[in-house]
Amino acid sequence: MTASDARSAELFGRARGVLVGGVNSPVRAMRSIGRDPLFIDRALGAYVWDVDGNRYVDYLASWGPAVLGHTPPAVIKALMAALPRGTSYGAPTEREVLFAEAVQDAIPTVERLRMTSSGSEAVMGALRLARAATGREVIVKTVGGYHGAIDGLLAEAGSGATTLGVPTSPGVPAGATAATRLVPYNDLPAAAAALAGAAAIIVEPVAGNMGVVLPEPGYLSGLRAACDRTGALLILDEVITGFRVARGGAQERFGVTADIACYGKIIGGGLPVGAFGGRADVMSVLAPEGPCYQAGTLSGNPLATTAGLAVLQALARPGVYDELEAGGAALEAAFRAAGVPVTINRIGSMLTGFFVDGPVTDYASATSSDTVRYGAFARALLAHGIYPPPSQYEAWFVSTAHTAADLELTAAALADAATASAA
Ligand SMILES: *Cc1c(COP(=O)(O)O)cnc(C)c1O
Repeated sequence: MTASDARSAELFGRARGVLVGGVNSPVRAMRSIGRDPLFIDRALGAYVWDVDGNRYVDYLASWGPAVLGHTPPAVIKALMAALPRGTSYGAPTEREVLFAEAVQDAIPTVERLRMTSSGSEAVMGALRLARAATGREVIVKTVGGYHGAIDGLLAEAGSGATTLGVPTSPGVPAGATAATRLVPYNDLPAAAAALAGAAAIIVEPVAGNMGVVLPEPGYLSGLRAACDRTGALLILDEVITGFRVARGGAQERFGVTADIACYGKIIGGGLPVGAFGGRADVMSVLAPEGPCYQAGTLSGNPLATTAGLAVLQALARPGVYDELEAGGAALEAAFRAAGVPVTINRIGSMLTGFFVDGPVTDYASATSSDTVRYGAFARALLAHGIYPPPSQYEAWFVSTAHTAADLELTAAALADAATASAA
């Protein structure tokens, strides 16, 4: 710890006395990059400031939501207007309708939507629905795919679980994962075989939780065809990719149609949110139209829908996704100029640089990355005022608030961090 982290260090000491490991979500503890966490005081645009007053150009983006940068004026204004009208009613609102209409306008295949309070809950609802709609039990999942802290899918989960080196968490009963079949990401024949008799396959259309791993050409359309052959449902987990890789998410970007798609992160504008939606005939199996139970006290919360709606409206502006592509391309160019990490996977404004020679196409190749070097790289970046994801197995996110000057600062820091990571 340098002297300028004194207040973060003091707060971390107190936090460990009251919060498990001092944090409310494990990767935040920064253990996988070998340092203690920074406590954040505020955020604006492309920047976050820690409690010691240090400013960072932020590429964590709250793990994805901050696509417009932090504290975007349109979202803050909408929230300020909404606050005095109440924070929760437990009854329908006009804003939920406007929100769902905005989602459907961007993603026409979401014929019906159900909102939740987190991405994990959205996935839980989608899985139960898929099982109810097909009368089958088995869910196929890709190795290294992360779909939230859900018992049934914490088999070889990516992200936090990978980072902590526990492929399957203790506390998950064997029965919970008994109906989960694992297949490697990007392995179409394996998925097609596993889909026989299955209720569904759930897949991140672009993997984002083993680092960014792109679907190979034909993979997603091949999954669609395999589902059609076997009568299984295609569940796309678009919690990261929704409104990130295109306004219509991966369904638009790759021209593939999900039966059910899951959303979160960006659609909440930084407030707790999730949603799942798709084919009207499938969605109608949910209560109150059908027998499949799903519910939530704060689902469709007025503040979350207000913030989310403001973000979706901002993302409807022409040119936004060109700006995000340009920002992502500039970040990629800065990584390439720095020389390390060696393998860079990017789509639009999400990117991961892996410390590995050769392509990263699945969990096995992603986890062959030299995470000790990533740790040194990330620590050096923080020392240079750049906030990277505190794990090799996460995505860097560029927002519309990152300027050319921010990216130049980043390029200089990346070059120095590359040297540090080689030492
Ligand atoms: C973050 C994430 C989730 C879980 O969302 P929470 O809001 O953290 O519950 C699910 N799926 C994917 C692909 C994610 O990245």
